[in-house]
Amino acid sequence: MALSGLDIYKLLPKTNCKKCGSTTCLAFAMKLAMKKASLDQCPDITEEAKKALDQASRPPIATITIGAGDENRVEIGGETVLFRHEKTFYHQTAIAISIEDALSDADIAARLKSIEAISFERVGQHIVIDAIALIDKSKNTEKFIRALDIILTGSKKPLVLVSEAPKTIEAALKKCADRKPLIYAADAGNLKEMAAIAKNNKAPLALKAKGLEALSGLSNDAISAGMEELVLDPCPVTLNDALNDLTQIRRLSLKKNHRALGYPVISFVTDKDKYHTVQAASTLIAKYAGLIVLDSIDKETLLPIITLRQNIYTDPQKPVTVEPKLYSFGSVDKNSPVLVTTNFSLTFYTVSPELEASKIPAYLLVTDSEGMSVLTAWAAEKFTPEVIAETMKKFDVENTVSHKKIIIPGYVSVLSGKLEDASGWDVLVGPKEATGIPKYLKEVWK
Ligand code: SF4
Repeated sequence: MALSGLDIYKLLPKTNCKKCGSTTCLAFAMKLAMKKASLDQCPDITEEAKKALDQASRPPIATITIGAGDENRVEIGGETVLFRHEKTFYHQTAIAISIEDALSDADIAARLKSIEAISFERVGQHIVIDAIALIDKSKNTEKFIRALDIILTGSKKPLVLVSEAPKTIEAALKKCADRKPLIYAADAGNLKEMAAIAKNNKAPLALKAKGLEALSGLSNDAISAGMEELVLDPCPVTLNDALNDLTQIRRLSLKKNHRALGYPVISFVTDKDKYHTVQAASTLIAKYAGLIVLDSIDKETLLPIITLRQNIYTDPQKPVTVEPKLYSFGSVDKNSPVLVTTNFSLTFYTVSPELEASKIPAYLLVTDSEGMSVLTAWAAEKFTPEVIAETMKKFDVENTVSHKKIIIPGYVSVLSGKLEDASGWDVLVGPKEATGIPKYLKEVWK
């Protein structure tokens, strides 16, 4: 729970020495409450007060990083609301795919290759699998390490090391501690050893216990053992249990400030039926898994899961945009038509399939409208004759085609006169809806 300026003031030295740059301790406390200063600016604060303030300023659900380096890590947790419309969700559910160590070397390499090859382009976003979970199916340390070697050679993705044997996890971390894998998992029987291994290797640790009470107790024990980076698994048996457990964990951590449950949750989806897999993964993404481990590598199974995740975790306050530039569709030449639109991703991905469907090679000039659709951008004066004319110059449309005709969306026909003045080009008014583009190009442009 956020502390008020007065709560913070009570923990400060109250000497008004000004070393922090504020004129009084109270002024500094107010800045801290507004997150406009950091605690280390006060050199005289006691360790005890620092600890209390650090704890109080921690988000209700910790952010846990799995992996290392800018491109080879994934962050989970850090959420502050139950529902996206209350504010936003910060970290989308990470998706890991499992590899069992009992497979032959060739099969491990082949599965790894398939995972690496999974990639989707959707509304301008490049989506890949976030992590790989190596499963200790063999219960044999040597086999686990052998499989790990193959994975380390063939992939840089963040790792989840799934084994209940501390000696196997310890041996694995000798190979890959620098990649900061998630260790799965400590339970009541091995917590001491697993926590020591995780701490020595600075790796996050997953805890598993059946039911929230047991999990909360285990989490408190792990925190007492000095663990800060935790991930939780309440070990639900059915999807209904999972929905209930994950919702309770989210509510307790956000609404009741239950520290022991204030960590992201890991869930496994092992159903062999693809429809059940999609159903379970979708439920877990919606409510409220931080990381899901899937067995399936089928694209037709993964695409709906990824699409749902993208829909839930796209921040509606930040429109998805495409790069403003001159795009070409088909084998364009100097006679190809030039259409213009805005850089709202949904607009671009509505217009571009219609251009492709028309089979008439064409250019599409995309202006920077700060991610607004055509009508909104026009109303906000972000899609004006001046902006379009400047964008035409910027991307050298004049020297790209031999004609001087530009097609604007039908909804903004009102721009045509001023755009002709600003650009010196003939302005043609295209259809209002993107679906009308193929007919327009075939019948009007030709
Ligand atoms: S440095 Fe610390 S003690 Fe001095 S005024 Fe600032 S908050 Fe108060």
